[in-house]
Amino acid sequence: MEKYTGKSALRGIAIGRIYVIREENFTPSAEKVSDREAEVTRFENARLEAMRQMDILAEEARKKVGEEEAMIFEVHKMMMEDLDFIEGVTLKIRDDGHNAEYAVDATGQELSAIFAAMEDEYMNARSADILDIAGRIVRILAGLSDGSLHSDEPVIVLADDLTPSQTIQMDKSKLLAFVTKNGSANSHTAILARSLNIPSLVNVDIDVDHRYDGHMAVVDGTDGSVILDPDEDILAAKTGAKKRLDEAMEQLKTLIGQDNVTKDGRRINLYANMGNVEDVDKVLQNDAGGIGLFRSEFLYLGRDDFPTEEEQFEAYKEVVSRMSGKKVIIRTLDIGADKKADYFKLDAEENPALGYRAIRICLTREEIFRTQLRAIYRASAFGTVSIMFPMIISVEEIRKIKGIVEDVKRELFNENIRFGDVELGIMIETPAAALVSDELAKEVQFFSIGTNDLTQYTLAIDRQNQKLEPFYDAHHPAVLKLIEMTIQNGHAAGIWVGICGELAADDALTETFINMGLDELSVSPTYILRLREKIRAIGQ
Ligand code: PEP
Ligand code: MG
Repeated sequence: MEKYTGKSALRGIAIGRIYVIREENFTPSAEKVSDREAEVTRFENARLEAMRQMDILAEEARKKVGEEEAMIFEVHKMMMEDLDFIEGVTLKIRDDGHNAEYAVDATGQELSAIFAAMEDEYMNARSADILDIAGRIVRILAGLSDGSLHSDEPVIVLADDLTPSQTIQMDKSKLLAFVTKNGSANSHTAILARSLNIPSLVNVDIDVDHRYDGHMAVVDGTDGSVILDPDEDILAAKTGAKKRLDEAMEQLKTLIGQDNVTKDGRRINLYANMGNVEDVDKVLQNDAGGIGLFRSEFLYLGRDDFPTEEEQFEAYKEVVSRMSGKKVIIRTLDIGADKKADYFKLDAEENPALGYRAIRICLTREEIFRTQLRAIYRASAFGTVSIMFPMIISVEEIRKIKGIVEDVKRELFNENIRFGDVELGIMIETPAAALVSDELAKEVQFFSIGTNDLTQYTLAIDRQNQKLEPFYDAHHPAVLKLIEMTIQNGHAAGIWVGICGELAADDALTETFINMGLDELSVSPTYILRLREKIRAIGQ
């Protein structure tokens, strides 16, 4: 039995087997084998396993992103069946007596060079594919993982760290908990874990080693511990604790359908944050009054190319329709910093959090922005949609945005495409925006305060840097003053103000926010009923 501790991103207990995720690339060396036929069989088995993985990935892609992405995996599978490839590898084993890892790697390199030299653009592109499939088979042969999750049963994922795009690609039904050696509780991966309602521990001083694969473990988000190979007593105690937590959660369900109102009659809207279309299930189950933050950039992550207008429209339409008239606030693309997708071809930056991200990308690569706005406006015909813009620092930006929005609406009107009445708002997540919120309030219909970034920029603390967590004070008076100032300026101009950063779920501040006059709190679905309980207990 081994016990480790870390920082917990969500209360909750998970019991299950460990699945280690490490992105390992290695170049195999040439070795001689004594039993050549056994080595050929080893290759054959690995090739079949790789093909099985392609089937799973194709199926996942088909469900999540569409037929076109699924085809990539189908093509990879076909390449694994290619006779030139299979023959190349088996000859190197049978004739030269090489080990399978080396034979696959060398054959992959040879074929890739041949494809790269071809005139035809399509064949040219296969050069990278063949390296990809060879790499996958080599990793299977060497018992290394490819940085993704392929499990038949739900597992506790143990990793050094996980990027948002890695996490987004995982099959959520196979996740019990995350345990990471690095990472911070304010990172998007932790936020994603909260939206999935699974325990997540970051900053755990544990060896991320395949020797733990398949070992039983208990992840306890209430005390930030993970226990490997628990003995029967621990297992029984933790199973009991888990049952009590589940029962408390069940008990909260009696609050479904109730108002978010204090004993002295002050009301507040409780909305939900979400990132994936599937999250709507949890939003509805937890009785959110609306969606206060739809992180639309998650539609752009974990794929090879931009989502088309049609793909985005379908996603937004599904969410908006399922919310049946309840407000859905879609935040426009907030890519950059930790949320990266290769096909954006963003330059490496010294300070990505202070860099080319979010609205700065949208205002300089307008075609991306216009495509998204068209998709959102089209979806607005199916329910109640608001749009908010991230990382705003000036009135000029909003005026420019509003100009583009008007263009898009005119375009749709001329094409006879229906759209609804869409409320426009901005996120207040830079100190600049909070400080000029009196001016900004005259330009928009609502503010939503993004406390994750507002805290990062006010305190000059990188939200991703785990070493700075001791300095990270979520209740810092400077942040609270900026929040209060934003609420006052918003109200003075007659617009509503909410919070959609993680601080909204901090129940130690709920009363403070209500006293400040806040109109809305938007939190991971799992916090809605807990906050409702908290709100209903406030006042005399
Ligand atoms: C925030 O910054 O508080 C916010 C809600 O946006 P994100 O966490 O996606 O940066
Ligand atoms: Mg933000």
